[in-house]
Amino acid sequence: MSDRRPNIVFIMADDHAAHAVSAYGSKINHTPHIDRIAEEGMRLDNCFCTNSLCAPSRASIMTGTYNHVNGVQTLSTEYDARQPAIPRMLQEDGYQTALIGKWHLGHGGVHDPRGFDHWSVVPDQGRYHNPVFLGMDGEQRVIPGYCTDIITDLSLDWLDRRDPDRPFFLMVHHKAPHRNWEPDAKHLSLFEDGDLPVPETFFDDYGGRATAAREARMRVADDLRMDDLKRILPPGLTADEQALWKYQTYIKDYLRCVQSVDDNVGRLLGYLDDRGLTEDTIVVYTSDQGFFLGDHGWYDKRFMYEESLRMPFVVRYPREIPAGGVNGDLVVNVDFAQTFLDYAGVAAHPRMQGRSFRPLLRGEAVGDWRTSAYYRYWEHDDGIHHVWAHYGVRTDRYKLIYYYADGLGIPGASDRVFAPEWELFDLAEDPWELHCVHDDPAYAAVRAELEAELARVQAEIGDEPHVRAGT
Ligand code: CA
Repeated sequence: MSDRRPNIVFIMADDHAAHAVSAYGSKINHTPHIDRIAEEGMRLDNCFCTNSLCAPSRASIMTGTYNHVNGVQTLSTEYDARQPAIPRMLQEDGYQTALIGKWHLGHGGVHDPRGFDHWSVVPDQGRYHNPVFLGMDGEQRVIPGYCTDIITDLSLDWLDRRDPDRPFFLMVHHKAPHRNWEPDAKHLSLFEDGDLPVPETFFDDYGGRATAAREARMRVADDLRMDDLKRILPPGLTADEQALWKYQTYIKDYLRCVQSVDDNVGRLLGYLDDRGLTEDTIVVYTSDQGFFLGDHGWYDKRFMYEESLRMPFVVRYPREIPAGGVNGDLVVNVDFAQTFLDYAGVAAHPRMQGRSFRPLLRGEAVGDWRTSAYYRYWEHDDGIHHVWAHYGVRTDRYKLIYYYADGLGIPGASDRVFAPEWELFDLAEDPWELHCVHDDPAYAAVRAELEAELARVQAEIGDEPHVRAGT
């Protein structure tokens, strides 16, 4: 048994939903390389983001804190990279650290990545083809080729140049498969023959739930733009046929982008095999949050509903994690930092609010593990998607959501305020979250329990419950 500390390779895609990973039983695609990580390690089935949006989730991962603590509640609240975060803590303890790919936490001054020996990032969302990369010297360079390949190339280049005598922490942050889903030329012919399965909830009428679902503008049928679809709608289709044509067009481009990510995960795993690094290296594949793949008729994320809330998370570390394991405990993105620090033997920062799930990955039962996961979407009624601000808790069976529908003056949130509403779902009876039971007397006790749990968690993490003006 080696006593050296493990290397950590953290591969994170952007908007890659768990139900587009075959290890999670996807009905629409096959991701053999991501699946390999799960087969040789563990798959987490209930790993959740605490705010289903790029920058806020990334800030939670970096700092091990909720968004009211790290200050990145929306896409318009930039990250102050001077705050305590995992790269600096590992770097100060002897790790070589690098970040390649998407940063999306702001640029310039205090917003640039910190704590990395090396970083090379795409500004903002980045481009799929011939992307611009911003380096530590402040220079921007166009690199010819396809973004997902280039992020991997740059990652392998850095691994080649590293000091083999010290452990490393490498963050590989893919741009893909973020909107507007531009595949590599070599994947354009994938899925050309025939149609892909349509989600059961594609024609959701948003009845029986809070108003927020109906008001959201992220419908495949109505809200995708020409630069998303990249193809002219065929003439003579009924409204439903048009919606299904848009779904097929959208989902195929999305999955073509995912295919390139999976290919490149394979390249990285192959590199570790070839260099004899597999045994000593923790490899994680995840995404900053989930995504609606036509579920409820939507693309995008933001809601606390399952498809958007759940992050894929597969992890391999042959020295400690038994192969082929599956864990269903409630893990959140706020836990990642402390888990990596635990493996590295570095004490967590006192500000951190998560918990190391290393024992869960060893296959151990942890008696006092959390029994609810907290969520808060702050970017109220933004000018495009119009999803209302909400918070809530999810237990193993139930989910309580409160749409407080108020921007609270936070940058990126609207100043329009709507009447608050609640939702409660019984996920065992209603896995698609189509039937709110908040006002069903049969669920009165469950509802009271969840309301108490919501208040308890908010107090525990120091997040303020919403108080309506004038009440
Ligand atoms: Ca994202």
